[in-house]
Amino acid sequence: MTYRVTKTDEQWRAELSPQQYAVLRQAGTERAWTGELLDESRAGLYTCAACGSELFRSGTKFDSHCGWPSFYESVRPDAVELIEDRSHGMVRTEVRCANCGSHLGHVFPDGFGTPTGDRYCMNSLSLSFAPEDQA
Ligand SMILES: [Zn+2]
Repeated sequence: MTYRVTKTDEQWRAELSPQQYAVLRQAGTERAWTGELLDESRAGLYTCAACGSELFRSGTKFDSHCGWPSFYESVRPDAVELIEDRSHGMVRTEVRCANCGSHLGHVFPDGFGTPTGDRYCMNSLSLSFAPEDQA
């Protein structure tokens, strides 16, 4: 996969906070229940914290009780890249930003009660939120 936004490791390190770098560029996971977007409920748009690409709309965010911001659908199917992840002895589906390749989180088929049945389990550190009234 070739991304539209490509930067060197040094550039990412310089632009992102250490916490963001660990999640976005090293596929880390923030601690559950600590993300600042977990309880965000205003209308607006969620974008990639690394490149600004549009990722999720507030209308698809739902309360999954898993400790991370959860969405049932991305803004467009091609906004995210899905990759099989066999790390940590599990088979999961990693979600990356399709524009810059940064790690966002994982998607699980347990979004019970949502229109898609999917749960995009995202790190707050990977996202920026723009409320609609300020957009
Ligand atoms: Zn991105």
